[in-house]
Amino acid sequence: MDSSASRYIRQAEEALLQIFSGIDAQVKGNLRRVLQAYRHHRVGAHHFASVSGYGHDDLGRQVLDRVFAEIMGAEAAIVRVQFVSGTHAIATALYGVLRPGDEMLAVVGAPYDTLEEVIGLRGENQGSLKDWGIDYRQLDLVRGQGELGRDPGEVDWQGLETAVGDRTRLVLIQRSCGYGWRRSLSIAEVERIIASVKRQNPDTICFVDNCYGEFVEDREPTMVGADLMAGSLIKNPGGTIVTTGGYIAGRADLVETCACRLTAPGVGSEGGATLNQTRLMFQGLFLAPQMVAEAIKGTHLTAHVFDALGYPVSPAPLEKRRDVIQAVQLGSPEKLIAFCKAIQQHSPIDAYVEPVPAPQPGYDSQLVMAGGTFIDGSTSEFSADGPLREPYVVFCQGGTHWTHMAIALEAAVAVIGPASPSLP
Ligand SMILES: *Cc1c(COP(=O)(O)O)cnc(C)c1O
Repeated sequence: MDSSASRYIRQAEEALLQIFSGIDAQVKGNLRRVLQAYRHHRVGAHHFASVSGYGHDDLGRQVLDRVFAEIMGAEAAIVRVQFVSGTHAIATALYGVLRPGDEMLAVVGAPYDTLEEVIGLRGENQGSLKDWGIDYRQLDLVRGQGELGRDPGEVDWQGLETAVGDRTRLVLIQRSCGYGWRRSLSIAEVERIIASVKRQNPDTICFVDNCYGEFVEDREPTMVGADLMAGSLIKNPGGTIVTTGGYIAGRADLVETCACRLTAPGVGSEGGATLNQTRLMFQGLFLAPQMVAEAIKGTHLTAHVFDALGYPVSPAPLEKRRDVIQAVQLGSPEKLIAFCKAIQQHSPIDAYVEPVPAPQPGYDSQLVMAGGTFIDGSTSEFSADGPLREPYVVFCQGGTHWTHMAIALEAAVAVIGPASPSLP
């Protein structure tokens, strides 16, 4: 192994010790909230049994919904294996509350890639929101004069003050940057957006795409005024062990409308068998604050190492985290692919597999992915991927222990080396 690679990792570990212990302190706060909710709702082993068929009277599912809602500071929640993905949970929420003639306004620039087809920006005759007569408008980020591709951009706070129109039924607030080169939102910023929207129209629904945001801070969007939010269980709140699913949480009336969209009007949240997954869902939710913390430590480590090597990174090495994603601009397709190969080789599963760029359903560009995870496609476990387009940004996310990431990163550094050949 290249000794200079291990030196970069060691230096990062030493520089980050204090940040790591601060992250551990936050785990305590979030875990305390989880434990309180489990105690309050008297969660017991009898809740692990699940019913089959229609899934009526599933005590475990009902209690999980209430526990989840309490942890998130929401009136109600549906936590379901029937959600295929985060995209499905988000789409269900949008179809659940929007009606023909309504307008949806995205306030943090372009939405996550997979939502383009849901909205109708891409693809035809799939029953997109556009096909149903729901209009879409977007408030773009404002970017400074920085070098092209480097300025992460900022919410257009001034534009936001007058952006909500008469028909704006819902505002889409995407908390995490997804595959964009922008800063993810802090909860304080989510709160500020909601306050501005509600000043303009108290009836506009503030919906948060909460993917990658759960347990990153000590509050969730539904604690600061969000009416509704959705996310994936193979990301943060599944604690890396939930096998599949997603959730919607928020105002009770809206959550039930969304449940009716997931199942059928009249069935709502009362149906849906959990197929013996309830124990894993409770256990994953219990583990989630710790797993998120480990993933966050990994983002600091990745940023520190690649910043030292001269690559643009977002967020910066010591910046407070707002999600579990670390973006690194590698600048060439060769380096992007080499990075993903190194991560794959140091994954517990499929370490012998070589990642190659390929098209991915829901995404516009080809993607290269390293995902040697126990749960297929889980980005809560350590994984890296990036679209094969300028400026060749790799997005690293997830991780169950930062030491695993340190081992994999060392291998990546050894093959990729510094941004400019003059660094040692
Ligand atoms: C992951 C993610 C989604 C949904 O993705 P799925 O892969 O469908 O779970 C939506 N928005 C953001 C910001 C995300 O990070």
